[in-house]
Amino acid sequence: MHAAPNPDPEALSREQLEAEVRLLRTQSASLAQMFEQAPGFIALLSGPDHRYTLTNAAYQRAIDHRAVTGRTVAEALPDAAAQGYVDLLDEVFRSGRPHRATGARFDVQAEPGGSVKERYLDFVYQPITDARGQVSGIFVEGHDVTERMLAEVALRENEARYRTLFESIEVGFCIVEMKFEGDRAIDYRIVEANPAFVQQTGADVAGKWVSEFAPDLERHWFDTYGRVALTGEPAHFEHYADVFGRWFDVRALRTGDPSAHRVAIFFSDITERRMMETRAEAGERELRLITDALPVLISFIGADHVYRFANKAYEDWFSVPAEEIVGRDVRDILGAEGYAARKSFLDRALAGEAVTFELDWPRRDGQPRVAEIRYLPRRSTDGRVDGFHVFVQDVTARKRTEAELARQVAARTAERDQVWQASSDLLCVANFDGYFVSLNPAWPRTLGWSEAEMKARPFLDFVHPDDIASTRAAANGLARGEAQLTFENRYRHKDGSDVWLSWNAVPRDGLIYASVRDVTEVKRQAEALAKTEDALRQSQKMEAVGQLTGGLAHDFNNLLAGISGSLELMQTRMTQGRMGDLDRYMTVAQGAAKRAAALTHRLLAFSRRQTLDPKPTNVNRLVKDMEELVRRTVGPAIHLEVVGLAGLWPALIDPGQLENALLNLCINARDAMPDGGRITIETANKWIDEAGARQHDMPPGQYLSVCVTDTGTGMAPELIEKVFEPFFTTKPTGEGTGLGLSMVYGFARQSGGQVRIYSEVGQGTTICLYLPRHYGEADEDDITRRLAEVGRAGQGETVLIVDDEPSVRMLVTEVLEDLGYTAIEAADSVAGLRVLQSDVRIDLLVTDVGLPGGMNGRQMAEAGREWRPSLKVLFITGYAENAVLGNGYLRPGMQVLTKPFVLETLASRIKDLIAET
Ligand code: ADP
Ligand code: MG
Repeated sequence: MHAAPNPDPEALSREQLEAEVRLLRTQSASLAQMFEQAPGFIALLSGPDHRYTLTNAAYQRAIDHRAVTGRTVAEALPDAAAQGYVDLLDEVFRSGRPHRATGARFDVQAEPGGSVKERYLDFVYQPITDARGQVSGIFVEGHDVTERMLAEVALRENEARYRTLFESIEVGFCIVEMKFEGDRAIDYRIVEANPAFVQQTGADVAGKWVSEFAPDLERHWFDTYGRVALTGEPAHFEHYADVFGRWFDVRALRTGDPSAHRVAIFFSDITERRMMETRAEAGERELRLITDALPVLISFIGADHVYRFANKAYEDWFSVPAEEIVGRDVRDILGAEGYAARKSFLDRALAGEAVTFELDWPRRDGQPRVAEIRYLPRRSTDGRVDGFHVFVQDVTARKRTEAELARQVAARTAERDQVWQASSDLLCVANFDGYFVSLNPAWPRTLGWSEAEMKARPFLDFVHPDDIASTRAAANGLARGEAQLTFENRYRHKDGSDVWLSWNAVPRDGLIYASVRDVTEVKRQAEALAKTEDALRQSQKMEAVGQLTGGLAHDFNNLLAGISGSLELMQTRMTQGRMGDLDRYMTVAQGAAKRAAALTHRLLAFSRRQTLDPKPTNVNRLVKDMEELVRRTVGPAIHLEVVGLAGLWPALIDPGQLENALLNLCINARDAMPDGGRITIETANKWIDEAGARQHDMPPGQYLSVCVTDTGTGMAPELIEKVFEPFFTTKPTGEGTGLGLSMVYGFARQSGGQVRIYSEVGQGTTICLYLPRHYGEADEDDITRRLAEVGRAGQGETVLIVDDEPSVRMLVTEVLEDLGYTAIEAADSVAGLRVLQSDVRIDLLVTDVGLPGGMNGRQMAEAGREWRPSLKVLFITGYAENAVLGNGYLRPGMQVLTKPFVLETLASRIKDLIAET
């Protein structure tokens, strides 16, 4: 130490002593200073009760500056005593052994109930012994290590936390050691790896070279880590690792000694995120594609009035590219005016309301345009409106259509109203309680009751008692939802008369809507029509009869001529006393009378038939029976041929009608052959198959046909279309009625058959009647059967007599022979002309006008005159043939004798003509 060894203190000099003291003082001052300023705390305790004798500043800080000097520890620091420190001091004092503590905890509580400060202390209790070796006090020395302790605790906690984190985080972590070949990283080894890394790589790869467990790993990884290891520049990238089939977010940084080529690597598997991003990107791309393709404005405007999204249509509406719209303010894009027009809607949208409104928004070229604008607010997750979607649609066309529709509706409503008001039909609405709800003005006009009167009572009150049941049934039908069409009943007129109503009623919405027609007049007319139809049928018959009589007059005249002539001759012979000839004349007269009777009979039978009366009919026989009548009707200029199929099926028809039809067809044929020709009536059985049925417009099945063919003028197709129309005729007024074919048609259709015309202009016509086959036997018609069998039976100066009626020829011959002439007979024009063209002497030609053989009497006479220019001719005619002779204008040497005539007249005319020069 500083004091010099001195065996005898008394022996010290004063100077020495003073110096010693000074030294001591200096020493003790510096000691005190050291003591005071020592960073550790120091206290000196004396006596067994540990009374403070000395404390330094650090100690006082440690005990929170409590006054301790002169007091025992137990008195001064009850908190320390309570924590066992006094016991500890007692132990040190008693044992004389020091006590050391590290990081001992001392909770300082300066005042009872005051705040507690946690302190950690390193200290030593060092017993102090006196000269006798007795413990006299304790030296306390130590350091407050609270700061360090707390830091350590924090560190420890931190480390534990870090460890846990390291172990549990999903981020993979590893430290790798790179292997180079020159500058090129060729492999690396996992030096350390956390569980996440192990898990992500799927194997415990610690200590292994990558080439071992992932031989195909892409170069990218080697290059990147190699660069980090060589340059020390950290890397951060996202990359797809093919070998793992996953995306990673990777951070790599060099660690440790650069020459060690170590790289710390943090991996996170971001596959999910990347996939979501990819999906989101695709979704967004798609959305963009879709929105861009739409002819609708679509955008999003943020709460700050800034466009966040705008589709391509914006370019068109604003002539600003969509990209340039995004990021700009609404006011900026819309302009002040446009903004003002939308301001209130914008505010409402931002307040969370979905708004729709329309605006006039002219096109860029100035054309008017109406836009429908929708703002749909969008809310962020916290519920705030963070903006709104905008959808704008051009509704100009729709508006126009709507306006047009509205106009139409208005017009139609007006029309309906007009119809309602003005309709002559009775229109009404009624309810199912049986009352009228509304009636148009036609009702009071028709029934005499006012609207109010009609509404006041159930509608059944107005119905004729006989019609109430059917009306009720119809109402029930309506109640079931069935429309009642053409239902008829009678309503009582206010004047008591009955009005026939025809109803068209439909139920709708619990009401009955009806359009009703007053058919009283129609009913009356229908009755009248039924009568008219009868009359018409009658008139058709009359036409046929008219036609008949024209043709028949000739025959009757002939027959009458035969009868009266015979009688005259008989009279002459009787006066002459030549009784032997009487028989011959008698026979001739009787034959003619018989044939006349038969014709009359037939005529009567024909004209008497009235109504359609179908019965099974043998058509062949009917035709056969008609043959004579037809032949006489069409006249001698037309050759008639009847071809009846053997085994013809019977038909279920009204035979009278068929006769009428046949006669009409033959009369038409005759009219079509003014210069004569041929008529063929032919019957046949016909199978009409599907195709034929379609073609002929009749059901398929078995039919028999009756066809009348002529060699006449024929008909053009456009004529054929019209001929069945009633009253269609091409014949001069008075000659044609236009009813013949319409009657034929009506008959065929009524009988379930059909009529077909086959004709060509100039080639003639065939008209066929198809009549359904009757399965059964034909009735026998005794009247027609009993038609008389009409048999066929005539010098210097010679007379040629041409007539198809033998009785006429006979009579004329008789007269001629009586007069002393030679008579030559011919039955038709061909035979007559042959005689005329021969060199036989002919002084006179007596001929009928109507002749068979293709020429009439006049034509034959003209032809004869070519051979015999001075040929004298006497025509014998019925009135019907007057026209043929040219209305009386006859060439010289020709005369006419009209039937009937008396034989004397005939004789004198013949004599006069022959005598004439
Ligand atoms: P109508 O004989 O009184 O004229 P129809 O109904 O019998 O009335 O005939 C109508 C028309 O059909 C005739 O006017 C005629 O033009 C034409 N017609 C009818 N039958 C024949 C036929 N066989 N040949 C040529 N034309 C015919
Ligand atoms: Mg006719």
